[in-house]
Amino acid sequence: MNMVEPRQFAGLRGKLALDAPLAPHTTWRAGGHADAAYVPADRDDLALFLRQLPIFESVTVLGLGSNTLVRDGGVRGAVILLHNPGGVLAVADGLIYAEAGVACPKLARFAARHGCADAEFLAGVPGTVGGALAMNAGCYGGETWPHVAKVELVMRDGTFVVRTPADYTIGYRSVKRADGRPADGIYTAAWFRFPAGDGDAARARIRELLGRRIATQPLNVPNAGSVFRNPPHDHAARLIEDAGLKGLAVGGAHVSEKHANFIVNAERRASASDIETLIEHVRRVVADRTGVVLEMEVQIIGDRL
Ligand SMILES: Cc1cc2nc3c(=O)[nH]c(=O)nc-3n(C[C@H](O)[C@H](O)[C@H](O)COP(=O)(O)OP(=O)(O)OC[C@H]3O[C@@H](n4cnc5c(N)ncnc54)[C@H](O)[C@@H]3O)c2cc1C
Repeated sequence: MNMVEPRQFAGLRGKLALDAPLAPHTTWRAGGHADAAYVPADRDDLALFLRQLPIFESVTVLGLGSNTLVRDGGVRGAVILLHNPGGVLAVADGLIYAEAGVACPKLARFAARHGCADAEFLAGVPGTVGGALAMNAGCYGGETWPHVAKVELVMRDGTFVVRTPADYTIGYRSVKRADGRPADGIYTAAWFRFPAGDGDAARARIRELLGRRIATQPLNVPNAGSVFRNPPHDHAARLIEDAGLKGLAVGGAHVSEKHANFIVNAERRASASDIETLIEHVRRVVADRTGVVLEMEVQIIGDRL
């Protein structure tokens, strides 16, 4: 039964949908529905939604869903959909301000246009700024958090807090509170500090980086990037390829022929269960063969059918 009821809310300016399909909000284009999905109009509207949502309702956040598998049984409670193509980007006091719903490639191009260096790597991360903060996303030698001056979050009770990197312990694709507790709250914005650089050089580097991605990754079919983290001093893709798993299929999900650490939903008919079964199989075969237990980079949410 759906516990989130539109009549519980007053004064909202965003869009609330019940029993909302989440597949269109993930890059795998698979998975079930949310009991309720909310697209906030802005940060204050999100805070108003959270204040009025009964405290027992769970809250899940999705940006561009580019690192998330939603199981076929869907997600209970409310899912906040934060990707916002119209999200604010601005330069203030030598920092770049980005709302959490802005796509990372857009931030990379904005930074280049404003003569900043070192933001180019963000062009290769097809998620939102909020997702990049949550994951400490990175590639080609760059990572998100070393460039963060401060972040703003909205908490479950609808209050805002501002934090700095000193409030966190940051690692490879890992962000925890400084005292070791899991990260909490929903990022609503971040202020980035990038060194001054040459805009033309930054744009050229973005083009080069995207060219390399197109050459090495199956970007023309639904996927969620690297499924597994690279183990220390090795590459998950190499282990999977050496285990002879390239091209292996479960239902509509395949291990990509182009990049063995990608699972693709090329014909858009894979269920989340197909994808998860394939992930587990790959992990088991690689562990049996090499003793290396691959750790997930992709996050799995929701219920099985
Ligand atoms: C083709 C492809 C290539 C990729 N290459 C890279 C790469 O090179 N490097 C890399 O690091 N990643 C890569 N990824 C993975 C992915 O793009 C990143 O992890 C990205 O940061 C996820 O952002 P998102 O908005 O899609 O997050 P989602 O998948 O929507 O969410 C991921 C996690 O972040 C949380 N989250 C999202 N927004 C917020 C918020 N505002 N506040 C709090 N929590 C939030 C979610 O709850 C979830 O736990 C790739 C993915 C694809 C599809």
